[in-house]
Amino acid sequence: MKVTFYGTRGSLATPGRATERYGGNTSCVLVRGEDGSALVLDAGTGIRAAGADLPRDLRRVDILLTHLHMDHIQGLGFFGPLYNPRVEVHLWGPASATAALDARLSRYLSPPLFPVLLRDLPCRLHLHHVPCGEIKIGPFTIVAQSVCHPGPTVGYRLADGRAVLTYIPDHEPALGARHFPEDPEWTSGWELARDADLLVHDAQYTREEYPSHLGWGHSSLHDALAFGALARVRRLVFFHHDPARDDHAVSAAAEAAVVDARPAFSAMPAAEGESFDLPAGP
Ligand SMILES: [Zn+2]
Ligand SMILES: [Zn+2]
Repeated sequence: MKVTFYGTRGSLATPGRATERYGGNTSCVLVRGEDGSALVLDAGTGIRAAGADLPRDLRRVDILLTHLHMDHIQGLGFFGPLYNPRVEVHLWGPASATAALDARLSRYLSPPLFPVLLRDLPCRLHLHHVPCGEIKIGPFTIVAQSVCHPGPTVGYRLADGRAVLTYIPDHEPALGARHFPEDPEWTSGWELARDADLLVHDAQYTREEYPSHLGWGHSSLHDALAFGALARVRRLVFFHHDPARDDHAVSAAAEAAVVDARPAFSAMPAAEGESFDLPAGP
């Protein structure tokens, strides 16, 4: 599978030379299978460019939403395939006790916030609540599980028989844990991430910033590294960068945490436009 980052931020950052490397867009990752299948993880502002990069003859695309916070759905209405009647778009998201997925998404995709109603989109749209078991899409076996973050939120584990990608962009596994990390099976997200070839994980704060943001649903870089170690991942990509940090500050914060924690796996910040081929070659 090929994994490409189109948006890596926790909220829009001003584009410019100071954000050239990590970009200014919010959460969106495109995963392509070897048979050409296309999965889009979250519909942040990066999804506009992801849609533009998809082949014109693509007939199906699946969008997997982790949750419905604005930074994860903000780009949805600007995704080109939604306006192509020949494309089947499957939109997956977590169930909620208060309203169905279409009702919750329609709050955004309807006037006055957006000119087009969800049900009037020209594509062949199918909405699904993510089930508890496995989902099969093309060569991918996908597992979704609830994770620690305000409101109904899931993380995803995608396997294609050759490699495993885990995507948990908004996650605070340390919340409520007395000595994080300790018991794998009681740690939010552990089952999704165990032995992953690539873990894409929330790392919005530095260790110094985290105590004043307890319960906001996000992790420190140190906690992301500790979670990666607990799950024995092969590689960790820091995600959901603070919008206030320019390229230099994102790199510096990541480097300081890696030097301090000295993980047994490689760890680096996600950069807009960067791709990973999994499994990685020698
Ligand atoms: Zn977010
Ligand atoms: Zn969120």
